[in-house]
Amino acid sequence: MMNDLSVVAESIKRCQRPIICGHVMPDGDSLGSVLALGLGLHLLGKQVTMASSDPLPELYSFLPGINEMIVGEVSPEAFDLLIVVDCSVPDRLGSALLPLYESGLTTVVLDHHVNDQPFGDFNYVRSSAAATGEIIMDLLEALGIPLNTDLAINLYTAIVTDTGSFRYENTTSETHRRVARLLEYDIPVARLSNLIFSEQPISQIRLLEAVLSTLEVSENGQLATISLSRQTQESVGANDQQIEGMINYARNIQNVEVAMFFRELDEQRIKISFRSKYYIDVNLFAKKFGGGGHVRASGCTVEGTLSEVKDRVVKEAQGLFRGC
Ligand code: 5GP
Ligand code: MN
Ligand code: MN
Repeated sequence: MMNDLSVVAESIKRCQRPIICGHVMPDGDSLGSVLALGLGLHLLGKQVTMASSDPLPELYSFLPGINEMIVGEVSPEAFDLLIVVDCSVPDRLGSALLPLYESGLTTVVLDHHVNDQPFGDFNYVRSSAAATGEIIMDLLEALGIPLNTDLAINLYTAIVTDTGSFRYENTTSETHRRVARLLEYDIPVARLSNLIFSEQPISQIRLLEAVLSTLEVSENGQLATISLSRQTQESVGANDQQIEGMINYARNIQNVEVAMFFRELDEQRIKISFRSKYYIDVNLFAKKFGGGGHVRASGCTVEGTLSEVKDRVVKEAQGLFRGC
């Protein structure tokens, strides 16, 4: 496994018909990275396909190029290179796109999750990057592709979402240096910030009301949990994408170190999001349940009912905290 961006750049230069994919339940980093690289490779004259296993969130419909993305299955024969971004394990490609990887197509992985065994033939993983968008920006430079406004909007969105508007611990001087370069390309920062972080459909506020009514805080005040059943989600008419960010209400509570959000995918599968504030490594904690992610933000999917899984995971979390 080589972790050399110029080796990855060479493998991309050689291809003619790449397909670029991000992860299931795509977020701003996944979409912005796919689109910036896709639009960039198009400028190099490549016949580019950009794809997502899951539907594209309405929220990101402003991203330049998003209408060119394919949602769902594609046939591996049409491509000579699979480029996977912001995705640490093949499963997170989603069931529609996993067959591309399984077909044996040469695979490039570009990622910033903590991962010492990336799954590509060519890998570039930098966990100190706040967003995969930072890595894509460096790759475009290595490929000699000049930035333009469309690329800059996609890269800025990737970085601003994964850093929570430059407020999370992952934000570095390198992040700000890269963003300073992007801002030379006429990015409507205030408008993007409104679209991404502020405006919400009424169904999302109703959903928040329902989710907050499940809030529980542990006796020591350091663990906060919220949950959402399928039935509640359907009753307020909210879609999956409107759930993103809700865990922050639990995380933001004073003295809370770890927040958990339990979401019923179906009767036997619960998706859990973990967040921590200062000292607990939730990547390690998620790994206990077959998941992963970052030190301060991670997730997993666990089999069982909502209450069973919640009891099990909360129990496992006891003892994580200082002074307990
Ligand atoms: P979220 O809670 O927003 O879905 O995910 C937070 C972070 O954890 C993301 O960086 C995501 O990649 C990672 N993550 C979420 N769910 C899973 C999972 O099931 N497996 C792995 N390996 N990582 C996950
Ligand atoms: Mn992501
Ligand atoms: Mn990311």
